[in-house]
Amino acid sequence: MTSIKPYLRLAGLEPLVVRPETNFVNIGERTNVTGSKKFARLIKENKYEEALSVARQQVENGAQVLDVNMDDALLDGVKAMTTYLNLLQSEPDIARIPIMIDSSKFEIIEAGLKCVQGKCIVNSISMKEGEAKFIEQANICKRFGAAVVVMAFDEKGQADTLQRRVDICSRAYNILTKQVGFDPQDIIFDPNIFAVATGLEEHNNYAVDFIEATRIIKQRMPLTKVSGGVSNLSFSFRGNDHVREAMHSVFLFHAIKAGMDMGIVNAGQLVVYDEIEPELRQLCEDVILNRNNDNNEATEKLITFAETVKAKGKAEVKDESWRQAAVEERLKHALVNGITDYIDQDTEEARLKYPRPLDVIEGPLMDGMNVVGDLFGAGKMFLPQVVKSARVMKKSVAWLTPYIEEEKRNNPQAQQGNVAKVLLATVKGDVHDIGKNIVGVVLGCNGYEIIDLGVMVPADKILDTAQKENVDIIGLSGLITPSLDEMVHVAHEMKRRGMTQPLMIGGATTSRMHTAVKIAPQYDHGVLHVLDASRSVTVAGTLLNQDQRQKLLNDTRNEYDRLREDFNSKRAVKQYIPYAEAAQNRVAIDWKSFEPAQPKFLGTKVFEDVDLATIAPYIDWAPFFIAWEMGGRYPQLLDDEVIGKEARKLFADANDLLKMIIEEKWLTAKGVIGFWPANSNGKDTVTLSVPASAVDDNNDVVLPITETHQLEFLRQQLKKAAGQPNFSLADFIAPAQSGKKDYLGAFSVTIQGIEPHIKAYEAKHDDYNKIMLQALADRLVEALAEYLHERVRKEFWGYAASEQLSHEELIKEKYVGIRPAPGYPACPDHTEKYKLFNLLGGEAATGIKLTESLAMYPAASVCGWYFAHPDSQYFGVGKIKEDQLEDYTNRKGYTKEEMGRWLRPILENE
Ligand code: SAH
Repeated sequence: MTSIKPYLRLAGLEPLVVRPETNFVNIGERTNVTGSKKFARLIKENKYEEALSVARQQVENGAQVLDVNMDDALLDGVKAMTTYLNLLQSEPDIARIPIMIDSSKFEIIEAGLKCVQGKCIVNSISMKEGEAKFIEQANICKRFGAAVVVMAFDEKGQADTLQRRVDICSRAYNILTKQVGFDPQDIIFDPNIFAVATGLEEHNNYAVDFIEATRIIKQRMPLTKVSGGVSNLSFSFRGNDHVREAMHSVFLFHAIKAGMDMGIVNAGQLVVYDEIEPELRQLCEDVILNRNNDNNEATEKLITFAETVKAKGKAEVKDESWRQAAVEERLKHALVNGITDYIDQDTEEARLKYPRPLDVIEGPLMDGMNVVGDLFGAGKMFLPQVVKSARVMKKSVAWLTPYIEEEKRNNPQAQQGNVAKVLLATVKGDVHDIGKNIVGVVLGCNGYEIIDLGVMVPADKILDTAQKENVDIIGLSGLITPSLDEMVHVAHEMKRRGMTQPLMIGGATTSRMHTAVKIAPQYDHGVLHVLDASRSVTVAGTLLNQDQRQKLLNDTRNEYDRLREDFNSKRAVKQYIPYAEAAQNRVAIDWKSFEPAQPKFLGTKVFEDVDLATIAPYIDWAPFFIAWEMGGRYPQLLDDEVIGKEARKLFADANDLLKMIIEEKWLTAKGVIGFWPANSNGKDTVTLSVPASAVDDNNDVVLPITETHQLEFLRQQLKKAAGQPNFSLADFIAPAQSGKKDYLGAFSVTIQGIEPHIKAYEAKHDDYNKIMLQALADRLVEALAEYLHERVRKEFWGYAASEQLSHEELIKEKYVGIRPAPGYPACPDHTEKYKLFNLLGGEAATGIKLTESLAMYPAASVCGWYFAHPDSQYFGVGKIKEDQLEDYTNRKGYTKEEMGRWLRPILENE
């Protein structure tokens, strides 16, 4: 029979056995109101959920025990300890490690003991109030089965010499083992770590005394453990983490050698002894071991050094301790933390260790990605981090791929992994890319093989590929309204082909309602609208789980049936007025008292290459964070407790890349603006007078003439409350009958040159920077539109020459006039873009191409009309009735079928 060895055996949900060969045990210190300002604030503000993230971060950084301390004069410590520990216990990823209940008030300790599961540590009891109290408290701890930290503290005070440290610990040991019946292995001594290098000579030997006391305690009482709060040591270097971490590391190096078993540390912030720069390490050695320290000489030197470090600024010091772990752990660490620095070398090491290269993918890499997936799924990791993890994964897989190929060649029978395949495509006519790329990366992280067909993909190509590759799921993406129809078409085709894969729908223009009403009825084997990349993981996971799939499909079908009914009943309630009546109910503008400003030039002006440094300050960052699915308002989100840290990292990365783009001129900002005399016909047509040249039979220009171009605007037809107009953009242009000469402008802008850089990132398997670059190009083009619009108002059109707006006011579009974009709610007809482009000089002016769905390519392009009237505003046309469609179709000279197709999203009977 084997006996149970006398080791300290702790447990959260999982056991932690401290064996003789166990390395130093890290006790996470940040969940301590006296040591962490942030944690203290969260607790005081009752933000317990957020305070959990502090614990989680400690666990993720390698804490093996979690110290929880609620000792604050302004807190009800019993209540805080109880609340926090109870919450912690229901977080399996945190509660898996044992808790150290830390308080100088025993009632708080008792409260904590009632909450924890497993076997915890009480920190601490001591003889400061005499033996009787000590025994009483020890008995209670024993009854709860807890291990105890015993402070070297007696009736006379804290032990501050070597002798007193050893004496007090020996006395406590005797009492605990003989009178209370404590197992020696459940006793942990804390022989007091005090601050050194304080300038007081009597403090200089504190570290040495601790280390020597440790040595003696472990000799005399070998089954006990020695612990201590390490941060105290460097208290006089507050604010200088670089020096503090070095001191801790040097101290632990010696204390652990002397027998120290565990310590309360900032998990994740320990530097490796060997990696401390030699000069600093030497100074720390001298201070901690109290060498060369007569007249505080060593202390002074360390202080001087610390000042130079501070002066150098807070250069980030990397924590490299994870490099010591086994290769599997290192791969996991790299994946979870998105670190690519060592991935090739670690992958190679794993490849040599495992029988087959595929085993590395299916083993450690997938293990790591599962952690990432779980954290992301639980909202504990954010999209940018996941995309960085994916980059690590891809690099590792890229390293392994040649070996896998070779294996396949040598042994074609060898069983290759059987992973689920997801096909992704942006539909025909659309160029939207970012969202789809993000979904691809996130699903890729979850172990799916992604077949990304890119943008502007015809239905046949999508479905041919899906069938040939026998994919498990098809995902469609789209940004502009015509893509909705294309998605309906794809669904219809899937049914015709008798396919059975589920269809996921996503992208800015899509909605649950549209999916329910229009797409789902086309196809019987599952159509699901997926709101964002985070959700795509859950949806795909459920679809591929044989047990859960049918339930999800049934639930979705029922939900969509309900939505459809809802939609139809609401539709029946909405009241529309005849178009003729709506046209009478125009926006009432008093044109008599308004003098339209005349632009400084008529016709167009091209901007070949606007300096990116000039437009960068016009960037609106809010949509950037939305693209990365980092919720919250900008800039407040940068200081958010939960996402602030990651948001700041993302923002810093964005600014670094932006700087490079600007300095190295990666991209070219091009644009064209134009102004023309314009009057409305008092209805919904605006006529522009466009200077042109007549040509003779030989194509020689003979004389300048004026052409007229007609723009058609749609009008709201919903029945309005009394006094409310039925808006059309045409209302903001003076009618010819008013006798006023008015004007209308247009612009198109684009960011060129992204492709080679995207390719370069793809070659490096760097989705993070690829998506970042795409997102920045989008930001820059919007900034360019904002910048040019400002110059238009102040300079080129000049109707607001003295405008003085802050950045914020610009972003909120607080200025006079608007720039509505064809295809957007106030002018939802995309085909007016043909006219806009012709007026501005077509593709030649900026290089922007219009796709068959009238999306603009490059994707980072924006266009719109300029309206100057102070009453002009954005609105949504909403649904229109058959009578307006007919009138509008006639005005435009389209066939009704053609026009109806373009306007389908806004037809009332659709
Ligand atoms: N600051 C934002 C600007 C883009 S969104 C960014 O950087 O992303 C705002 C633009 O969308 C407007 O300038 C206009 O061009 C267009 N827009 C918004 N609402 C509209 C509407 N109802 N009708 C037409 N265009 C609209």
